[in-house]
Amino acid sequence: MSQKLTTTDHSRDIAGLKYVYPVISRRAGGLSIGINFNTNNACNWRCIYCQVPDLVRGTAPEMDFQLLEQELRFFLKQVLEGDFYQQYQVPEQYQVIKDIAISGNGEPTSLKEFDRAIELIAQIATEMKVLPNSQFVLITNGSLMHQANVQAGLKIFNQYKGKVWFKLDSATDEGRKKINDSKHSTVKTIENLKIASRLCETSLQTCMLDFLSVKDAERERQAYIELLKNNKVKINRVMLYSLARESLQPEAKQLKKVDSSLMNIFADQLRNIGYQVSVTTQ
Ligand code: SF4
Repeated sequence: MSQKLTTTDHSRDIAGLKYVYPVISRRAGGLSIGINFNTNNACNWRCIYCQVPDLVRGTAPEMDFQLLEQELRFFLKQVLEGDFYQQYQVPEQYQVIKDIAISGNGEPTSLKEFDRAIELIAQIATEMKVLPNSQFVLITNGSLMHQANVQAGLKIFNQYKGKVWFKLDSATDEGRKKINDSKHSTVKTIENLKIASRLCETSLQTCMLDFLSVKDAERERQAYIELLKNNKVKINRVMLYSLARESLQPEAKQLKKVDSSLMNIFADQLRNIGYQVSVTTQ
């Protein structure tokens, strides 16, 4: 029986595979092939807007490289030569592989053999001519950039024109504690951002929520502007977005989308200090 894959369906197991999952992305305008290293739903952070079911603290489990290779080859073949688009009733305008995204149910750089996994995915995707025609993206909270295996992985990633999307929801220690439930300091965040941007093209992904008091939210936005002004980090783009789907964390009921006019004002403030900014309001 055929299933329908829509732009609102982000289920990680829709294709019945362990590591590889398809998402039809309205933002990207086509198929995004996700790779999930955190099959145990473990992350070293606990963002209050996180949509991972049964999220636990921890790191990615050991990778079954043979299975990852089998799944990726099988899945790409299904898309490139098989009936994937028909089977999942993907609208014609979305029948194009836009990106391969290392993005899972937790922090992907916590995988012990992160560099080996990046190399394997890049080699298969290149051999099957998906790279460099599609984008190669790593979605990360950036907290483990100081680790040698992560840096080794990013060097390989850069050889395949990989792009890092680095999470920066707050530019203060208090804000990061509240929003990401992380003790990661701002000083450390800046250091890690510098490491990422030195090794790969890096963009910031920033989730804006209606959660803090008006005064705290204003203080957060000012701190963010100051951070970007005072630190000479090469940032390709700042991507502002708000809640796309309901959080699966206990704070869910307290969270609301931030007003789009506020997002646009903030975007203009960042543009005024020289950054390229995109705003996604849905
Ligand atoms: S970093 Fe990502 S996976 Fe981890 S808690 Fe935050 S939103 Fe969830």
